Amino acid sequence: MDISIVIPLFNEEESLPELAAWIGKVMVEHNFSYEIIMIDDGSKDNSWQVVKSLQKENPNIKGIKFRRNYGKSAALYSGFDVVRGDVVITMDADLQDSPDEIPELYRMIKEEEYDLVSGWKKKRRDPVLTKNLPSKFYNRTARLMTGIKIHDMNCGLKAYRQNVVKSIEVYGDMHRYIPVLAKWAGYKKIGEKVVVHSERKYGVTKFGVERFIRGPLDLLSVMFISRFVKRPMHFFGVLGILMGIIGLAAAVYLGVEKIIQLRHGIVGNLITNSPYFFISLTSMIIGAQFFLAGFLGELISRSSSDRNKYQIDEKTF
Ligand code: UDP
Ligand code: MG
Repeated sequence: MDISIVIPLFNEEESLPELAAWIGKVMVEHNFSYEIIMIDDGSKDNSWQVVKSLQKENPNIKGIKFRRNYGKSAALYSGFDVVRGDVVITMDADLQDSPDEIPELYRMIKEEEYDLVSGWKKKRRDPVLTKNLPSKFYNRTARLMTGIKIHDMNCGLKAYRQNVVKSIEVYGDMHRYIPVLAKWAGYKKIGEKVVVHSERKYGVTKFGVERFIRGPLDLLSVMFISRFVKRPMHFFGVLGILMGIIGLAAAVYLGVEKIIQLRHGIVGNLITNSPYFFISLTSMIIGAQFFLAGFLGELISRSSSDRNKYQIDEKTF
């Protein structure tokens, strides 16, 4: 099978028939063998009935229905689990992403041998203040922190080689960072393609202002996990040593000062009145806590079942 299209959806009943027809048309025009996997993420409207009736007309459509709303990442994960196409495309269900982009994305994966191609909504049709500006800022930060040079990390329209989606695990709200997960799994050829973006035709956006808190927090977790998951002590230990040095330096300073004062018969301040005393005290306590966190982290990562799970690319014996 050439293409699997994975579509997470949450209360998108009005958009689905148009979307399915449009994709079907593009697939037939280009003679692709394909499947469309629609994951109903616990919709409260009639989305699931619509999926089932669409499947009656087009057997290439498959549906998965969650009992409750688990989020876009969970939906993508369940879709990736069952895909069979050589190239996997993800797209939003709200008709903001255009199925006309699929053939070119497919070609980039197949011929230019990209592992992952992310869409870039260069002309973005979303509210400027609540989406476009924060998104620019966020993408710049993400580029700096992750070293992945793409402009639209969280674009819903992406294309992957099948083994990429099979070897990453999207969970929580990590759908925003799939390129990072892919890079971390060892897929280096990550590209982007400018894509057409339209205004939302039906329904409403499912991501509100909580994005501004969750997005950056998830970026921190992703960066932390990708570097230190198997060696937490290297992170906490460094911080602990740093705090220890600060604490020790402050204590030494206090001690030396006291000795000098005693030698010269000066009645100085009480050590406990000096700010250095408190700096030393807090730094040492915090430093000890960092070490404790490091040791706990090591114990936890040691008991993880996939501590020795590696993705083997090739073998010759
Ligand atoms: N979505 C989902 N589960 C959720 C939230 C969203 O499956 O909990 C789907 C939604 O139906 C759409 C896609 O994720 O197909 C992107 O959502 P939306 O268009 O609301 O995001 P925006 O384009 O406003 O960033
Ligand atoms: Mg949308």
